[in-house]
Amino acid sequence: MAVLVTGGAGYIGSHTVSEFMAQGEDVIVLDNLQKGHCDAVLAKTFYEGDIRDSELLDKVFSSHDIEAVVHFAADSLVGESVQIPLQYYDNNLITAQRLLVCMEKHGVKKIVFSSTAATYGEPKSIPILETDSKEPTNPYGETKLAIENMLKWCGQAYGISSVALRYFNAAGAHLDGHIGEDHRPESHLIPIILQVALGQRDSLQIFGDDYPTPDGTCVRDYIHVTDLAMAHWLSLEKLRKTQKSSVYNLGNGEGFSVRQVVEKAREVTGHVIPVQVVPRRAGDPAVLIASSEKALAELGWKPKFNSLEQIIKTAWNWQQYHPDGFIK
Ligand code: UDP
Repeated sequence: MAVLVTGGAGYIGSHTVSEFMAQGEDVIVLDNLQKGHCDAVLAKTFYEGDIRDSELLDKVFSSHDIEAVVHFAADSLVGESVQIPLQYYDNNLITAQRLLVCMEKHGVKKIVFSSTAATYGEPKSIPILETDSKEPTNPYGETKLAIENMLKWCGQAYGISSVALRYFNAAGAHLDGHIGEDHRPESHLIPIILQVALGQRDSLQIFGDDYPTPDGTCVRDYIHVTDLAMAHWLSLEKLRKTQKSSVYNLGNGEGFSVRQVVEKAREVTGHVIPVQVVPRRAGDPAVLIASSEKALAELGWKPKFNSLEQIIKTAWNWQQYHPDGFIK
C-alpha cells in the first residue's frame, strides 16, 4: 500500500518523503509545483497538479492502493496571509476539504496533517501546551486551525483518523545536502541570514526590536526539518497501531531571539552579517516555544539535531552548495 504526500516537492514535504522512503514506504507525491521544486521530488511516482483538480485527484486515488495521506500542500507565510487572506482560505481550507472528500469517497482512513504553532496566536504562557487556547493572530494560523477542526469532525462522521502536527520553526536542511530550503521569494529568517553571509543581500532586516523579550526581538523555537519529517512517520505508525486521532506540538522546547540566531550564524559562517532594525511584521507573536512532551512520550519522537548550531550548520551546508537553490 502507498502513502500519498501532497506538497511533497516543498521544503518539509520533500524531507518527509526522504524519511518515508528510508523507512521503506511506497510514496506517491502530488504537487502543483507552484512553490515546490521538481528537483525536490524524491518519489518515483509523481503527479504534477492541484488538489482542486477533482479529476486528477480521483485518478490518483483510483490508480493506487492508498493507505494514508500526509498533507502538506498549502500556503504558509504569516505576513503574506495577512495581506491576501482569501488566497489562504482557498489554497489551504478549500484544498483540505476537497482532499477529505476524496479520501472519504475512496475509503482512505488515515491522515497526517501539517499544522502550525500559528494556531495558538499570542500565547498566554510558555512553553505552549497542545491544550492551550487557540486564537490565531493571522489567516495562516486561522486556516490551519479550521482544518484541524474539520479533521476532528471527519473523524467522528467518517472514521478518518488524523494526527495534526503543530510545527514551531522548521529550519535546517538534509544532512547529505541534496535537499534544503528554497522559497521564492525567501522570507524565512535563517535562509535570509545565510544569503547575507553569502553576499547575496546587504543586510538582514530585523522585524522589530521592541517586543517584550530580553533583547526586544522575537523569540522562536527552531526545529530541524529532518526531525519534523521523522515525527510524520512516527505519527503514521501510531495511526496504524491505534487509529486514534491526536494533535502534537513539535519543537525543541528552547527559544532563541532573532539577534541570538544572527549571532550563532556569525559563529557558524565566519561572516559579519550586518543587520538593520525595521518595524514589526504584521501577525508576529513575541514568543513561541513548544512543550513537545506529548510527542516525546506518545510518539517516541526524539529530535536528533536539537542544537541551533547543528540546525544552522546543515542549512549553511545546503546554501553554500546551492546558492541559487534548486535549478528551475
Ligand atoms: N524575521 C526577521 N527578519 C526576516 C525574517 C524573519 O526579523 O527577514 C523574524 C520574524 O519576525 C520572526 C522570526 O524571524 O520573529 C522567524 O520568522 P520566519 O519567517 O522565519 O518564521 P515564522 O515565525 O514566521 O514561522
